Amino acid sequence: MEHLTTEEIAERVWLSIADRRLLPGTRLKETELAEVFGVSRARIRQVLALLERDGLIVIESNKGAVVAKPSVQDAKDIFHIRSAVEQRVLARLVDQLDAAKLVEMFEHVAKERIANNSGNQRDIIKLSGGFHVMLAELAEADFLCRLMRDLVSRTSLITAAFRDSNRHNCGPDEHEEILLHLKNRDLAAAQKAMAAHLAHVESELKLIQDREPAKSLRDALG
Ligand SMILES: [Zn+2]
Repeated sequence: MEHLTTEEIAERVWLSIADRRLLPGTRLKETELAEVFGVSRARIRQVLALLERDGLIVIESNKGAVVAKPSVQDAKDIFHIRSAVEQRVLARLVDQLDAAKLVEMFEHVAKERIANNSGNQRDIIKLSGGFHVMLAELAEADFLCRLMRDLVSRTSLITAAFRDSNRHNCGPDEHEEILLHLKNRDLAAAQKAMAAHLAHVESELKLIQDREPAKSLRDALG
């Protein structure tokens, strides 16, 4: 792996967390990461700082970097905030729409469809989260855009932590439905479709109360 930027390395780690190759609680050793990516430990520390900022890892003083373990309450908080932000993004976007932006949005969904058909998990994860970030970018709302990037990356961690199956359902059909309403400049219908979409994504997760793992065999069996 040559000439990867700090952001590119961070993205690879993010994708490995999102597709559950790196599970919550996994230790990320600086020396190992430096070896895998062929970069200095100083660069890896920059990568880890980015991942920590996005809520994907926590850096513990004695253990170093560990993949974050979001709680059920964290997961519900993020979906709650995300649905509010997404509604606002659509309201901003509907006033900014032009033919070129509509083409770009429909092209993105076409790429999602190709990824879905080929079953490439990493492309699916990247493009499905990317759809939501794209809406915020095209709305030209800087603050919402920063929030969406953060929320999408945290959602992928939650999905990895709480999902039952490997299917990634933030799919092109529901995205396309939102776009068709936007194309008709029907904000209320677009917002309704977005709310239904996010509720669907959340419903695919098993958000039941966290259980602490037993501390010992005696605790587990007693
Ligand atoms: Zn989606």
